[in-house]
Amino acid sequence: TPVDQLTLAAAKQEIAPLREQLIKWGQEYYEQDNPSVEDYVYDRAYQRLVELEQRFPELKTSDSPTQHVGGGPTSELTKVTHEIPMLSMGDVFSIDELMDFNQRQQDNGDVSVTPEYNLELKIDGLSLSLVYENGRLVQGSTRGNGNIGEDVTANVMTIKSIPHQLPEPLSLEFRGECYMPKESFVKLNQEREAAGLSVFANPRNAAAGSLRQLDPQVTARRDLATFMYYVPEYQKLGVRTQAAALDRMRELGFSVNPHNRVVHNRQEITDYVEEYTAQRDQLSYGIDGIVEKVNDLDTENALGNTVKVPRWEIAYKFPPEEQATVVRDIVWTV
Ligand code: NAD
Repeated sequence: TPVDQLTLAAAKQEIAPLREQLIKWGQEYYEQDNPSVEDYVYDRAYQRLVELEQRFPELKTSDSPTQHVGGGPTSELTKVTHEIPMLSMGDVFSIDELMDFNQRQQDNGDVSVTPEYNLELKIDGLSLSLVYENGRLVQGSTRGNGNIGEDVTANVMTIKSIPHQLPEPLSLEFRGECYMPKESFVKLNQEREAAGLSVFANPRNAAAGSLRQLDPQVTARRDLATFMYYVPEYQKLGVRTQAAALDRMRELGFSVNPHNRVVHNRQEITDYVEEYTAQRDQLSYGIDGIVEKVNDLDTENALGNTVKVPRWEIAYKFPPEEQATVVRDIVWTV
């Protein structure tokens, strides 16, 4: 039933089990690295919850998954506090919705936004924070619940693409995505299957399971890689745009995804989305969408965040590939 046709009583009946289900799926995904449903199933249910809460704000609760960054720091790893929270990201599922988002951003009334965006691939891994002091890597941590993450310093030291020492004595935090290349994921699962171990559901969960290990030697044997994409304190890097921040990170020796592009209008955005929707299977790593970021960093800063997501970036999510697999499986079963 569309939400605008629901009575409050009917919405109330629907919302509690829906929220409970999403919390359970969230725990499986974020904490156990072992989801029991495909992402599009989660996304659909999440979207329904958003709509219900928008239509009936009195049914909103503080423990709702819409109010928190997913995943608690539940493992036995040491906890780390993020001085600058690591947030989630809003998402849209069509170019029209993306253009609506941009329009609302333009109309925000407080901050003047020039429509210049940096488009990036949305890497399907888990967020990673790296802290450097005087150019030396001193801490690596996961996002966790956004405020408190897990200390994975010893583990990140084993990842080849992460520099231990920068060419400049910077004291700065860099953020990005830790992922497992598709080929390494297939190989790891083959090995695990042969050894009678459980297999990972997808490369994202394999990356998360491999990074969040108590024993760094286990992480060292897994083929993890990174793409860095964010510097919260960009002023210290002397850059004014997101595209320039990516270039600076490249210069500093980080692995940065080469496919970003600065765009200004619907046509350019559509071209990029279409190009990478077509190319995504050929990439050696998984992507689940495109990220659009306001290119000017002072504007970004001024736009700020909601409790859960930045106002200056949004994810365009690809239509689920998995659905095709599901259909195929059904055909095979029949
Ligand atoms: P998200 O993972 O969809 O998006 C935010 C994240 O995108 C950031 O934290 C960052 O790590 C990442 N990212 C990748 N490339 C980036 C780039 N270039 N620039 C900036 N950030 C980039 O959001 P989320 O809240 O962490 O998780 C929601 C996702 O998790 C949904 O896709 C959902 O389907 C999935 N999920 C699935 C289940 C399940 O049971 N299958 C359960 C919970 C969540």
